[in-house]
Amino acid sequence: MSSPEDPTPVVAPTDFIRDQVAGELAAGKHPRIVTRFPPEPNGYLHIGHAKSICLNFGIAQENHGTCNLRMDDTNPTREETEYVDSIRADVDWLIRGWADSVLGLKEEGDTSGAGISAVKGQGTRLEPFYASDYFEQLYQFAVRLIEKGRAYVCDLTPEQMIEMRGTPDRPGTDSPFRSRGVAENLDLFARMRAGEFTDGARVLRAKIDMNSPNIHLRDPALYRIRHAEHHRSGAKWCVYPMYDYAHPVSDYLEGVTHSICTLEFEVHRPFYDWVLRALELPRALPRQIEFARLNLGYTVMSKRKLLQLVEERLVTGWSDPRMPTVCGLRRRGVRPEAIRNFARSIGVTKYNGLTEVNVLENAIRDDLNRVALRRLAVLRPLKVVLTNIPSGQLLELDAINNPEDPAAGTRRMPFTSELWIEQEDFMETPPPKYFRLRPGGEVRLKYACIIRCDEVVKDALGQVTELRCTADLETRTGGVNSAKKVKGTIHWVSASHAQPLMVRMVDRLFTEEEPEKNGRDFKTVLNPHSLDQLSAFGEPALGQARVEERYQFERIGYFSLDPEDAAAGRTVFNRTMSMKDTWAKAAKK
Ligand code: ATP
Ligand code: MG
Repeated sequence: MSSPEDPTPVVAPTDFIRDQVAGELAAGKHPRIVTRFPPEPNGYLHIGHAKSICLNFGIAQENHGTCNLRMDDTNPTREETEYVDSIRADVDWLIRGWADSVLGLKEEGDTSGAGISAVKGQGTRLEPFYASDYFEQLYQFAVRLIEKGRAYVCDLTPEQMIEMRGTPDRPGTDSPFRSRGVAENLDLFARMRAGEFTDGARVLRAKIDMNSPNIHLRDPALYRIRHAEHHRSGAKWCVYPMYDYAHPVSDYLEGVTHSICTLEFEVHRPFYDWVLRALELPRALPRQIEFARLNLGYTVMSKRKLLQLVEERLVTGWSDPRMPTVCGLRRRGVRPEAIRNFARSIGVTKYNGLTEVNVLENAIRDDLNRVALRRLAVLRPLKVVLTNIPSGQLLELDAINNPEDPAAGTRRMPFTSELWIEQEDFMETPPPKYFRLRPGGEVRLKYACIIRCDEVVKDALGQVTELRCTADLETRTGGVNSAKKVKGTIHWVSASHAQPLMVRMVDRLFTEEEPEKNGRDFKTVLNPHSLDQLSAFGEPALGQARVEERYQFERIGYFSLDPEDAAAGRTVFNRTMSMKDTWAKAAKK
C-alpha cells in the first residue's frame, strides 16, 4: 500500500532482472533476496546512481529481502571521508520512509565484517558496509588461491604486463613468474604485505589463461602494492585488492544473491565467477546481472566530469542546484519521491540509450504539483494603480493553498490600490491571441477581480512605468458580476505588502542535449542563463516560507528555499522546475 504522502507505488514493475529474481525465488533457489548498492566513495552520487539505488532497494523491498549499502573503498588514493558522508546522507534521503525495511544494516557490535546483514526497522541510522572491513578476509582468500595454485606473484613491470597481455586478437604471453612455486609465492605475498617492496614492484595475479579471448581472464591482477593511507584503515595496509577481485568476495561475504551492475561489467563477469569458484566456498554464490546505465540529456554524468565542473568552478560546488547530483537535486527542491518515480518510469533494459531530460522534469513537476503550496509572486514587476480604490483601503481575499489537496486549506491575501503584475502580462500592441492586459483591455486578477487598463504611463525613454486601471470589485467571488468572463487571468501582489524575494531561475546546465556529441568539449555548450538571479516580489505568506515546504508560484513554476543559503541566513528561492517545458517550445520556433 502507498500512503497519500508517498505515492511511490509498491506494485512491482517488471523487467528482465525482476523476472529472473521471481523465477529463482519460485524455484526455491534463495531463502531470501539480498542486493547491494556499492558506490566507490570518490565523488558524490548522481541521478545515475539513484537509478541503481532504486533498482537494488526496490527489488529487495518487493521480495522482502535486504539491500546493503556498501562503500567500495579498496582504492586508498582516491577515496575520502567527505564522500562517504555525502553518500550516506544521499542514500538515506533517497530511500528513507520508502524502503526503511530493506536496509541491510549490520548487527550491532558486528566487527567481523563478514556477518550477514540484519534487518532493522525505522529510525535506525544508516550504517553502511565497507569493503575495507574485509581487507583481512580478502587477504586470507588470496592466500588460499595461492595455496591452490591459482595465483602467483609476478615481478613484471606494469608496462611489461600490458605488453604481454596481448590484445583481443593477439593472444597474451605467459609471465616468466607464472610457474613460481606455492611456497615462494606465499613468502613473497607475505613480504608484499609486510611492506618490503616499493609500489608497483610486484603484483599478485590470478593464474587463468593468457590465451583467453576475454582479456579480463588473462591473469588479471588481484593485489597491488600501494604505500598509501586509507581513509579508514590508515597505514595498516600497503597491499590493496583490485576492484574485480574485491567485489565478488565482498558480495559473497555479505550473502548477496544478486549483484546488479551496469553493462560495462558484462565482460568482467567471467572473472567474477572464476574468483568465487576458485575459492571453493561453502555457501551459495552471488550472481552478477548487468543493466544499461542511465544517460540523461542536457547533462554530463560521470563523477570525473562532475568533478571537473566543480574544480574549474563552472558550477558553485557538488550541490549546485543545476548539478545532476543527488545533493544538487535535493538543494534544487526535488523530492525523493520524484526521483523514485522517475527511476521506475524509465525501467531497466540491456540497451544503452539516452533518456530525455523532460522525463525527469515531468516526474518532478507531477510530484510537486501534488504537494506544492500555491503562492503568487511577480518576478519582473510592473506597477498597477487601481484608480477607483482609495489608497490605504485593504481588502482580504481568500486563496486556495493547493487545489490538489483540500487539507492544505486557504490563506488570506491582501488586495490594495497598488499592485505589482508581471511585465510580460502587459503589451501595448499585442499579437493576435494575446489574452492578457492591453490598453483598454480587461484581465482577471487571480483570486480577485477583473481590471481594465485605462492609461499607460511612460518615462522619458518611452518605457512603461505604470498602468492606471479600474477594478470591478463586483466580479469577485460572491459579487453580482462574479460570472463575468474574460480570456486572461494573471497573478499579482499587493505592492505595500510585497515580500522582496531573491529568486534563482535554475535551468538546464547545457544548451545541447548531448553536450559531448562528436567529441565536443562540454564546456563550450554551457548554458549562460542556467542560474540567472532576479529580485522579485512575493505575497506576504512567502515571508514565512519554510525550507521543507514546496511552492508553486502560480503560472511561473515550482520553487523552494535554498537550504544551504537558508542555513547561512540568506533567503533565496531556487526554481525547482518551470511550469511547462519551455525548451520544447523554443526548439520548435
Ligand atoms: P561514474 O561512471 O559516474 O563515475 P561509477 O560507476 O564509477 O560512476 P560507482 O561508485 O562505481 O560509480 O557506482 C556505484 C554503482 O552505481 C555501481 O553499481 C554502478 O554500476 C552504478 N551506476 C553508476 N553510474 C550509473 C548510471 N549512470 N546509471 C545506472 N547505474 C549507475
Ligand atoms: Mg566505478
